[in-house]
Amino acid sequence: MSITAWRMLSCRACGAAVEGLTAESANPVRHPPFREGLLSRTLLRLPCPGCGTAHQHFDRFVWTDLPGRLCACVIHESERDDWADLEQEARDALSVPLREEGPEFVRAWGASVALRLVFGLEELREKVVCSMKDLDDRVVEAMKLELPCGVILDDVTPGQRLRFRLDARTRDVAWAIYEQTAGRRDALAGELPGIFDPRSAWVSCARARRPPRRP
Ligand SMILES: [Zn+2]
Repeated sequence: MSITAWRMLSCRACGAAVEGLTAESANPVRHPPFREGLLSRTLLRLPCPGCGTAHQHFDRFVWTDLPGRLCACVIHESERDDWADLEQEARDALSVPLREEGPEFVRAWGASVALRLVFGLEELREKVVCSMKDLDDRVVEAMKLELPCGVILDDVTPGQRLRFRLDARTRDVAWAIYEQTAGRRDALAGELPGIFDPRSAWVSCARARRPPRRP
């Protein structure tokens, strides 16, 4: 189900009131324009009428794409410093309906859905690109550790290349590097618990060496 509402939210840069349509829950399977808007970087983005800053018009919402095996709790990037608490919250909120309720076959299937915490629409977009192109987002985050700090996955042509973006510049990385990194998953799991620990919901190179908090 998708839940949208017309809301007034404060600009995070200047505090001015910004009015517009926001989402509390987004299901791109039932509502394909969500995915199109996310990929074209138009979803939930408005210029602030006060300062002109590009404003992301949401408080927090859940992105549910069960056929794509992705369920993500989306929080604004200004809250990234609280990632440890938010990771725990997201895990608790998302794992109950997907992994702990219903008959065994439903729970087994739920276990195959990636539960993710993302900060901002660009992090969500990366996870959706991975899901659409059948990439392991953990491998992509591990690859970023060898790339300039702050790169984001922009686009993928499976079998050929992954395109990363940093500000206005793009950089292509050969598909073979993805496959090599994927082949080292077991070795990387010990070095990068923040990415490969199954309890990690914020799967990001930014916290690669920091394990999830113990429950
Ligand atoms: Zn503003």
